[in-house]
Amino acid sequence: MPANEQFELTLPAPPLSGEAPLIPARMVNEFVYCPRLAYLMWTQGEWSETGGDTVEGRGAPMRTSTSPARPCRRRKRSKPRITADKIVSRSLTLSSTALGVIAKLDVAEAEDGVVTPIDYKRGKRPHVAQGAYEPERIQVCLQGLLLEEHGYHVEEGVIYHYESHERVQVVLDDALRAAARTAVSDLRLTVSQGRIPPPLKDSPKCPRCALVAVCLPDEVRALTGSSLAPRLIAVPADEALPLVVQSQHARIGKEGETLKITDDEQGETRVRFIDISDVALFGNVSITTPALSALFEREIPVIFHSHSGWFRGIAHGLGHRNVEVRTAQYRMSFDEASCLRFARDLVAAKIMNQRTILRRNWRGEPEERQAVLDRLRAARRSAGNAARSAELLGLEGDAAATYFRAFSGLLKQPDTEGELAPFRFESRNRRPPTDPVNAMLSLAYAMLARHLTIAVASVGLDPYRGFYHAPRYGRPALALDLMEPFRPIIADSVVLSAINTGEVGPNDFVVATTGTALTQAGPPPLRGGVRAPPVAGNDPPDLRLSGQHAPDAFGAGPPALAVSAGGAAELSPLLAALRREFGRIV
Ligand code: SF4
Repeated sequence: MPANEQFELTLPAPPLSGEAPLIPARMVNEFVYCPRLAYLMWTQGEWSETGGDTVEGRGAPMRTSTSPARPCRRRKRSKPRITADKIVSRSLTLSSTALGVIAKLDVAEAEDGVVTPIDYKRGKRPHVAQGAYEPERIQVCLQGLLLEEHGYHVEEGVIYHYESHERVQVVLDDALRAAARTAVSDLRLTVSQGRIPPPLKDSPKCPRCALVAVCLPDEVRALTGSSLAPRLIAVPADEALPLVVQSQHARIGKEGETLKITDDEQGETRVRFIDISDVALFGNVSITTPALSALFEREIPVIFHSHSGWFRGIAHGLGHRNVEVRTAQYRMSFDEASCLRFARDLVAAKIMNQRTILRRNWRGEPEERQAVLDRLRAARRSAGNAARSAELLGLEGDAAATYFRAFSGLLKQPDTEGELAPFRFESRNRRPPTDPVNAMLSLAYAMLARHLTIAVASVGLDPYRGFYHAPRYGRPALALDLMEPFRPIIADSVVLSAINTGEVGPNDFVVATTGTALTQAGPPPLRGGVRAPPVAGNDPPDLRLSGQHAPDAFGAGPPALAVSAGGAAELSPLLAALRREFGRIV
């Protein structure tokens, strides 16, 4: 036995009680396929809309995240032949407390006193020894056992494959019945122990698994000493974007698979649910109960702001119900060594990304560039070895100072008379920012923080409890932790690109003694240059929200950035660019 493995003592599953939840037969199927997959789905409530191998049909083509909304042609089912002696029942739900199982049978056929469960699967019939894979055979066997529990006589089950229109007979012999009962017992034992099973080892199932991005099998194995390099994971891009509605007296309702926004001046706008990541409402905008219900069902949050942009609250569906994730997060957040280890990686990654941005965008003298790159490389190494949080904070601050001292070298050289004159950068400033470059940086960081706050909450973590940023009332510390490595390569990169390509011009800003703000019209090239999310209305508020949420300004003091009227309209394209970058990286 390898030195790092332990003997496992096999225990019987806890006795069935009336309180124990019945296990769906399809979950037993998942358990036989991979115990970890069943645990993630059944105990932790994880599910991926991106498809992959599932109980619906292993080997079937992967669905994409948009596929559920596309109109699809209904494939003709080959209906079982019905004779005078045959009774066919569809969508029959059966359960048994003795078995501890519940199942929804696609079809049950009764003929000559014998009942046969038929389970429909996508895809073609696999060419394997017993005509079907073990998990599917066990699932249909459990359906047969349930029928028997209800007094029917069952001899075999059938698996019907949509794509090849083939029926595979599964004889319910003693060996299969015993395997099905053992699988149920093992799943119940695994769940009762509250310990997630280890991932499969270098399995060909994993790249096709629907939950590979949640499970991270190779990465988990690597952390426990495996010498195999983690395989690449293909994560589909998330194309959904925020929907910002700021037209006063606009009304939002549901119409089919779309939200319908009605505005007296602009008429009607329809936006598909699958194109929406979250809905931001400003001021006097009303939304109907069916629309809210449809959004919550799809786990799309709705964020309410005052007319002037102050954050009022957020409404969302049931959210992630996996308390295990939050428990582990809180436990780790009280462990100083774990926090430091995590923070070291975050800061090292941030410095590495700052270095990458400098390397790629430098426009100054080569010798100067090399000196800055060397300093950042040294800072990154030191951050990786920091012994205390305070030391890490100091190293991060020094690296940021080095980076922003060189930041002007990334901007096109200003022409005093020309378009680029306002885009001088001398140092990072905030609360409020005093020049256009700092205003755009603060805005981009604020958007990133908001995006990560929503993302963190949507996977069941508490955004307010972090590992590096200290907890402070109202501060989403975990979102701020996680955004550190992304600041340079998403926020700074978008700002540099907007300036250097001329997407923003001097007329897009108002500079006053109290700070710098985007103008009402905003930068037209930004609006047209990126695929903006749907924005309804043109009576925009003062978007102080961004200042409230800016990581620089959490807690106290004036907003980091006061975007003047028109702000929200300009935020959306910038956020769209941020989101696209973010999606590509993650
Ligand atoms: S990725 Fe592999 S180990 Fe993880 S749940 Fe899926 S099949 Fe199991």
